[in-house]
Amino acid sequence: MNWISLTILTFLLAEFVLRLIAGNLNLTRISDRIPSPFQGLYAPDKYRQSQAYLRTNTRFGLIVAAVDLLLLVVFWFAGGFAGVDKWTRALGWGPVATGLLFIGALAGLKALVNQPFNLYATFVIEERFGFNRTSFGTWVKDRIKGALVALTFGIPLTAGVLFFFLTTGPNAWLWCWGLVTVFTIGVQFIAPTWIMPLFNRFEPLEEGELKDAIMGYAASIGFALENVFVMDGSKRSTKSNAFFTGFGRHRRIVLFDTLVAKHSVAELVAVLAHEMGHYKMRHIHKMMAIGILQTGLLLFLLALAIETPALFDAFYVQQPSIHAGLVFFGLLYTPVDFLMGMLVQRVSRAHEYAADRFAAETSGRCEAMIDALKKLSVHNLSNLSPHPFYVALHYSHPPVLQRIEALQRGQSRNERRMREDGGGR
Ligand SMILES: [Zn+2]
Repeated sequence: MNWISLTILTFLLAEFVLRLIAGNLNLTRISDRIPSPFQGLYAPDKYRQSQAYLRTNTRFGLIVAAVDLLLLVVFWFAGGFAGVDKWTRALGWGPVATGLLFIGALAGLKALVNQPFNLYATFVIEERFGFNRTSFGTWVKDRIKGALVALTFGIPLTAGVLFFFLTTGPNAWLWCWGLVTVFTIGVQFIAPTWIMPLFNRFEPLEEGELKDAIMGYAASIGFALENVFVMDGSKRSTKSNAFFTGFGRHRRIVLFDTLVAKHSVAELVAVLAHEMGHYKMRHIHKMMAIGILQTGLLLFLLALAIETPALFDAFYVQQPSIHAGLVFFGLLYTPVDFLMGMLVQRVSRAHEYAADRFAAETSGRCEAMIDALKKLSVHNLSNLSPHPFYVALHYSHPPVLQRIEALQRGQSRNERRMREDGGGR
């Protein structure tokens, strides 16, 4: 053990303890009392079920985190990293191919470890609470397609990074930054048309009242919208959602078929107004810019760390290499990643409030937005009152009660303003 292994172990343990504390704080919030805005929407039975869902998922998340940590530590101190390094070197391939094999083998192992958990979450937990619609065949196909997509993008990207670190000297991190940036933006462009259809069917929303209402709203805020798509989310789950992907010509607004089935036209327009709000306020671009800056920092620090022999000693690897340095630095980076993650989620939560406000003000359907949020939460058995510490750690969206309160505050502010403008009418 050297100072680097001690540092990494401390970070990993600290992160786990924080998750444990957050999870347990969240569990203390469990109660049979339905929060007042939801009274009448939840049958007492259904509410109890939502609390059981929360308990099950929180505990399951903690078990997964504990097993992950345990397996990593055992693999590490039993000389697993050194073993894979020796085995890949013994093949005598070139540095890039050896590196790809080393990283690929470790990523493959990690993916294998994840599968039983994923299987349990889908076919036991989601099934028990009535959400699961995934057939075993779909689940297997999803794994295979996911692996193929990961290989298609992962191999050239990793090979590029290894190549630049091997050949471009002190500026390697800058070259890699450029490469990763081009890749990230490129994937955003092709994801809606090339990747997502591998997993789901996207049908243009049929002509009728809903489409007219959506197109009418989009025109009213000057949002160029070619089409709205309906995705067969019901293939995997009864949970519903809506989202926005892609850029420029390829951008898409997508509604889950499960959402269309459960909500009124006014509610659906409000939900899409929220999504268009994200785009209008450039949230998607901002998040992407933050991601690119984070990558730059990661690569800059990586370039420094890769020169440190102690990093390789910490994992019992005798011969330093770019590919091993990449993996080991990934572990050393844990706390930075963790803190950045919290910061990014904070920004994301602020974006959600802003998009809600945008939707309420531009569509004039504040009540519909609130109704949509309520219905979504009930159908998805969302946790209505998570602990603030848990929210800080894990939530990219604010808890629903806070979103409703913010919308109501905005509405009464507007009404007051209108009364004042109206001048004593
Ligand atoms: Zn949103």
